[in-house]
Amino acid sequence: MNTDCDYSSAYVSLCTNTDLVGHGMTFTIGRGNDIVCMAIKEVAARLVGKDTEELFADMGKTWDWLVADPQLRWIGPEKGVIHIATGAVNNAVWDLFARTRQKPLWKLIVDMSPEEIVRSTTFRYITDALTPAEALDILKSNDSGKKEREQTVKQVGYPAYVTSAGWLGYSDEKIATLTKEAISHGFNHFKMKVGADQADDLRRGRLIRSLIDDPSLLPSGTKARDPNSAELKGKNAGPTGAVLMIDANQVWDVEEAVEYVRGLQEIKPWFIEEPTAPDDIFGHANIRRYLAPYGIGVATGEHAHNRIVFKQLFQAEAIDVCQIDSCRLAGVSEVLSVLLMAKKYGVPVCPHAGGVGLCEYVIHLSLIDYIAISGSMERNVLEYVDHLHEHFLYPCSINDKGRYNVPTNPLEGYSIEMHKSSIAEFSWPAGSYWMSAKEKGQVPQ
Ligand SMILES: [Mg+2]
Repeated sequence: MNTDCDYSSAYVSLCTNTDLVGHGMTFTIGRGNDIVCMAIKEVAARLVGKDTEELFADMGKTWDWLVADPQLRWIGPEKGVIHIATGAVNNAVWDLFARTRQKPLWKLIVDMSPEEIVRSTTFRYITDALTPAEALDILKSNDSGKKEREQTVKQVGYPAYVTSAGWLGYSDEKIATLTKEAISHGFNHFKMKVGADQADDLRRGRLIRSLIDDPSLLPSGTKARDPNSAELKGKNAGPTGAVLMIDANQVWDVEEAVEYVRGLQEIKPWFIEEPTAPDDIFGHANIRRYLAPYGIGVATGEHAHNRIVFKQLFQAEAIDVCQIDSCRLAGVSEVLSVLLMAKKYGVPVCPHAGGVGLCEYVIHLSLIDYIAISGSMERNVLEYVDHLHEHFLYPCSINDKGRYNVPTNPLEGYSIEMHKSSIAEFSWPAGSYWMSAKEKGQVPQ
């Protein structure tokens, strides 16, 4: 589905009358990025002349202001280009806020009182699923354990999984090498792409399973995990405690999805990700219902364009795993509303990542979820791809147990600031990379 990707970023810097600058971005996969940049300029213009402390004092109200331009609203509302542009801008405001307080973004939020977090969250159109009073109860019930959880996650890291081994089109040799490499780095959740050819998917799936289920490949000193432990129960873990997930990137109709995935039962996936159109809530609910007897769950969210879609996915019991995206949702204030709903509906949040900057963003969101909202990271896994981190001033990192390290630099805000040199090189169309490609006649149409 997502062929010929040219990983791109629509990037925004909000300048103030001091040295402080807030950075935000949203991810795209190539053409269309400049359309998002135009939309960002329109949305960000609403902030010009505002007092930053007034914006920070009520981040829920600030979010409402960003989405309230009546003419821009017409080209949404709250979906598509205008919404991901709002995501970039809202994230930049949050980045600025965190920098003024000299805390990483996650720390800024977990240090807030339950009342402040509720005030920072957008509730419009979701109060039939979650009221501010219910959100406050959730946050208050977890408030006393925040310090302890913060210490724990700083010590052990946040659980992650890898996608890089299972891309379509890789040779068996490359799949085997990348899978073994991921095992040696301590990962025990692995994802592969499916949907182009069932026989090919089965062959690749058998290969990956044969490696991740092999105790002799575990890193020295690592023991097999119990597939029936609380962490792994219901995930179809193999004898070493390894879990396989599959991702179709929306290729099927509903019945086709059920048929196809049933045919992959042998490779024991925990869930099928994005089996069908991202807007089809009942479709996902039906797929989940028909796959349940086969022990295969349903996950989606990277293309769920706002909190209302997530609300309906929860209400329709359509998903086993909630995969928020940090910049398809319109920034942190909308993400908070989905994290709180997921907690109420008992669905674990395993954020989407991998593209430019997404891994940098999402570790903050998973930390907020664990420390302040769900209180658990036992069954969660955060997507990780070792790709493009070198463009960021504060790149994310993984420890030797295959878990995300906690960002701790007080100056990093939301960790999304890019190196000036990367921006100069890769800005479209005048960056040095594109200019030299043009000279060689290699600029894509
Ligand atoms: Mg995916």
